[in-house]
Amino acid sequence: KAKRDGKNRYAIYEERMSEQMREELHLKQSLHHALDNREFVLHYQPQVSARTSQVFGYESLIRWNHPDFGVLSPNHFISLAEETGMIIEIGEWVLQEACHQTRKWQVEASQPDLKVAVNLSAQQFVDSMLPEKVFRALEDSGLSPESLIIEITETMVLQDFDRSIETMERLRNRGIKVHLDDFGVGFSSLSYLNRLPIDAIKIDRSFVRQIGEEKHDVAIVNAIISMAKSLGLQVIAEGVEKKEHISYLKRKGCYEYQGYYFSKPVPAHLVTL
Ligand code: C2E
Ligand code: MG
Ligand code: MG
Ligand code: MG
Repeated sequence: KAKRDGKNRYAIYEERMSEQMREELHLKQSLHHALDNREFVLHYQPQVSARTSQVFGYESLIRWNHPDFGVLSPNHFISLAEETGMIIEIGEWVLQEACHQTRKWQVEASQPDLKVAVNLSAQQFVDSMLPEKVFRALEDSGLSPESLIIEITETMVLQDFDRSIETMERLRNRGIKVHLDDFGVGFSSLSYLNRLPIDAIKIDRSFVRQIGEEKHDVAIVNAIISMAKSLGLQVIAEGVEKKEHISYLKRKGCYEYQGYYFSKPVPAHLVTL
């Protein structure tokens, strides 16, 4: 009896495995048509400044409206898009879409200073054509370079430090801003941070979340803020969900926030300027 149960369980396991593999294969195949079928959409999440009490820009965050699986968040398909190389084309679409939408908002709402932050993937960042693609998105949309923020992560930079610096400088020489995303989760050291041509760092939400919690570790939040300040960098806190997050961050000298407290990411038509 025991043996038969074991065998059954194995059979069920095998069935589930193959189901999961089938889904993955299906996802991978449908990725090839997703761009042509216009299944991607950008959501926008406001970035707020406590100095002016105003939204100074939006981070664009991709979603995939999958015909069978529904709305998929980037964690479900970005790595797949990287594996298949599709990320290069998807990334170009994101740049174009985010720049065009933001220019439209600037004109419609008479807010010429509105900014947009665009996330890059590791593969895009090492693409030697990247700066040209970014410049083209600006030219095509009419968005000024000062309105565009490129978000990259520490791990991306560490893959090829010298080349990364070169790419960042090409972007910044045009007036584009570069922000270091998810800061604190990599192995950040002061000496390398000092050499990076960046405008701001974003404190990862895993640290912000701990503010006001019982077993909190605010030492890291404090260290990041003072480190950024001493290097003359702007600091943006992500994952701000509570009033007490804001009061704490403000007390420590961090005045720029992004998180559910203000708004979840929403599609463009739901953004109120
Ligand atoms: P990220 O760049 O660090 O973006 C912030 C993530 O935190 C977003 O998740 C956002 O929805 C979420 N978030 C913001 N505020 C809060 C909050 O208060 N609480 C909680 N729990 N979460 C919050 P999302 O949209 O699922 O994106 C995940 C990641 O996918 C992004 O992390 C980014 O690394 C990547 N990603 C998003 N869009 C793109 C894209 O267009 N291209 C590439 N290459 N990567 C993208
Ligand atoms: Mg980001
Ligand atoms: Mg982030
Ligand atoms: Mg993050």
